[in-house]
Amino acid sequence: MAVEYLCKVCRGHLNVKTSIILAAANLSDRSQKGLVYLNPELGNYTKTTHPTFDIKEGEEYIYSCPICGAQLNSMKYLHMVRILMVDDSGKEFNIYFSGIGGEKCTFKVRGNKIEQKAGPDVKIYDKYFEVLRKTESTFKSLLILQAYRI
Ligand SMILES: [Zn+2]
Repeated sequence: MAVEYLCKVCRGHLNVKTSIILAAANLSDRSQKGLVYLNPELGNYTKTTHPTFDIKEGEEYIYSCPICGAQLNSMKYLHMVRILMVDDSGKEFNIYFSGIGGEKCTFKVRGNKIEQKAGPDVKIYDKYFEVLRKTESTFKSLLILQAYRI
């Protein structure tokens, strides 16, 4: 069994051939939208888009499932996008990556435990992630983000 990536809402398969396929729209200008092909290897941030659509550095994007249309940005971990990963032994994980263009960081979480971190920008969210795992409130998470994000 190969590693699979699923939508957190409809559990449809997001990986096709060698990419994870998501729809994305620029948060400040929703008319800038398109499909994004992500590399399924954690820590590999090569992405492919159509030439008419570009992920701009420093701008925030709303990612959605191309199958059901559900928004995948996390309400709890602000600026993070969440999808599911099922590994080759059938174990399920939450995968979080930054929805901000150019930010390279990924967290692989199972239950309450961070199993793997990847990417050079992981330090931006590191403390934030640790503290936030212990809180459930979105408002609180906003305050924590402001306190911890560089
Ligand atoms: Zn879906």
